[in-house]
Amino acid sequence: MSVPELRESSTRSPAGLAAASTVLREVFGFASFRPGQEAVISAVLSGRDTLAVMPTGGGKSVCYQIPALLQRGGLTLVVSPLLALMKDQVDALRANGVACAAVNSSMGLEMQATTMRDAAEGRIQLLYVAPERFGNGAFVAALRGVRVSLLAIDEAHCISQWGHDFRPSYRELGAVRDRIGGPPIVALTATADPLVRDDIVQRLGLRNPEVHVAGFDRPNLRFEVVAVGTKKAKAEGIAARLKTIKGESAIVYCGTRKNVEELTGFLQRNGIQSARYHAGMEDADRRRIQEAFARDSVRVIVATNAFGMGIDKPDVRMVLHHDLPDSLESYYQEAGRAGRDGEPADCVLFFGPRDRGLREFFIEQSHPEPSMVVGIYRRLVEFGGNRVHVRELMDKDDQPGINAAIQVLADSGLAERRGYMVRALRPDGEDAIDTAGLEAHRAHAVAKLDAMERYARWQTCLRAQVLRYFGDETAALACGNCGPCVAPPVATRETGVSGDEEALFQQLRAVRKHFADEAGVPPFVIFNDASLRDMARRAPRTRLEMLNVSGVGQVKFQKYGEAFLAVTKAAAPRLAPATGEAASGTAGRRPRQPGALAPTLEETLRLYRQGLGVRAIAKTRGLAPGTIATQLAALILGGQIDDISPLVRPETLARVKAAVGEGPVGALGALREQIGADVPYEELHLARAYLTRQRR
Ligand code: ADP
Ligand code: MG
Repeated sequence: MSVPELRESSTRSPAGLAAASTVLREVFGFASFRPGQEAVISAVLSGRDTLAVMPTGGGKSVCYQIPALLQRGGLTLVVSPLLALMKDQVDALRANGVACAAVNSSMGLEMQATTMRDAAEGRIQLLYVAPERFGNGAFVAALRGVRVSLLAIDEAHCISQWGHDFRPSYRELGAVRDRIGGPPIVALTATADPLVRDDIVQRLGLRNPEVHVAGFDRPNLRFEVVAVGTKKAKAEGIAARLKTIKGESAIVYCGTRKNVEELTGFLQRNGIQSARYHAGMEDADRRRIQEAFARDSVRVIVATNAFGMGIDKPDVRMVLHHDLPDSLESYYQEAGRAGRDGEPADCVLFFGPRDRGLREFFIEQSHPEPSMVVGIYRRLVEFGGNRVHVRELMDKDDQPGINAAIQVLADSGLAERRGYMVRALRPDGEDAIDTAGLEAHRAHAVAKLDAMERYARWQTCLRAQVLRYFGDETAALACGNCGPCVAPPVATRETGVSGDEEALFQQLRAVRKHFADEAGVPPFVIFNDASLRDMARRAPRTRLEMLNVSGVGQVKFQKYGEAFLAVTKAAAPRLAPATGEAASGTAGRRPRQPGALAPTLEETLRLYRQGLGVRAIAKTRGLAPGTIATQLAALILGGQIDDISPLVRPETLARVKAAVGEGPVGALGALREQIGADVPYEELHLARAYLTRQRR
């Protein structure tokens, strides 16, 4: 095994970081790094193996994406555990103009080969794969022709059995580096548990790694524990909270499928639209629900922890827990799915008298007592290698842990199981049972649960307690933003945002939804809520002002800038006070005069006013009809065009209205299928824009 040379650390110079912040600004549209990002990027750029530990929503993705964009001619291979996660990442990067792709088994062989050729010939800078890919001979062979300059392993805690998302296929990753030319590795995780961290370093074979642990605080999250006496009180409490969020997204976690089913039923009976999600459902249904959530068509998901890693929706405003999680690590990760965009969000744990019992049952079930494993083995041996029914091995009717115990014996080569029948494979193997290991896992699980229960019963600052648990000794004694610190729930707070600003925000969301549906991506891929809030606050009128909005990079500006500008410009006169003073403290300076439209929109508007249709305008201007349709749609959404009769036939509008019904205006592609191809694409596009505006 050859140890690759460490690269020159010249990239650690300010020049390397300056380049990194240019990419952050121009490609991603962010003004500054979040805590820890700069340090991780700098370590990665210097060619060191790096382990980055950052909270969920801390911004881990750019830590490998920016180095990937700064490596000339090399490919960054990104290992990610779930298809849905990869898809969102690829969509989001492409929206920023980054050449990247994912290969997975759901693609045709042809498509896979094309993607690998793109990788080999340097046409893409990042390639996303699932860990299972490395077991695919054709893929590994195709990689031989590729110069991999960085191996990024996302959700790296999946490699550890001590973690809560263990994935056996992650185990194979330790051997991958040497097969792809020995690039440096950056491993990323939100898991704070030191045991898991050590495991990651060991199993991935990280060499002299730089370990960066960013602060675990998520100041925008408000934590709260609500103690309740009964299950009914829990359901009612949860329903009451969900009623306060008005049209925004929330997740409710339950400990069992049964609780998911019951709670969903209760919420629906109480008029709260919600969808269920757990591992007992068909894959297709799960995918559909996850997608509906990402696209804002379903707002509340009630789920087991199976609804997890694939969710990187940044604008979840509330995460409620119906049952006690197994550890504070799990809780912080699940709760951390709220407010990834940095905007305020609520995390509430409902805690009842029977919650610990449920968790103890799970521990019994998955971590059998060593004495029980030994007992079962002895009994099997008594049967002298003959097959016995599982029931014969149990002391009582319903013995938790029996299956796990048999599995332990099977894993140690002492027993074999077929369906309900089990037999001993050899009589003298008792010493091969790793009783110390079993005991350690069991004790570990109990200790984790103890810490979780302590949190649920904590009477002073919850944030301080969590941060200290994660090893942050500098945490303040009272954060001012949790239940015990008497902060009111985010969802019921006065926002201090003016009505006009809120109205503009809602308008911008509608425009975003329009583009998202058109492109078939989740809305946050276009802009996240934090960007739209910033946009509503600043109400930009010029290209430069729009580029100053957080999350508006060069490519996104080219794609969507004019459409959003059309809306903010139309709103700007309302938002800018006549005296010229800033309307609200944090707002940027607002120009006093209503700005003119971008010249290209102005020109299209002028021609429209002369009575020209889409094709005629396109011809006159020498632009594609699709471009003109997009511009006209922006003008319709921005309110500059009220009368669409010259553009859309009344019968088309009637057909679209009928197709859409009372529901939200769906994707253009879906509309097309419903209406049929006899209506020109451009006309449909404009009818849709008009309807979207009417619905606001
Ligand atoms: P993680 O993987 O750590 O959970 P992500 O990489 O998904 O987090 O980032 C969470 C959100 O934060 C995303 O919407 C991302 O665009 C945003 N973000 C990341 N870095 C920055 C930054 N420097 N400034 C503003 N927003 C950022
Ligand atoms: Mg992530």
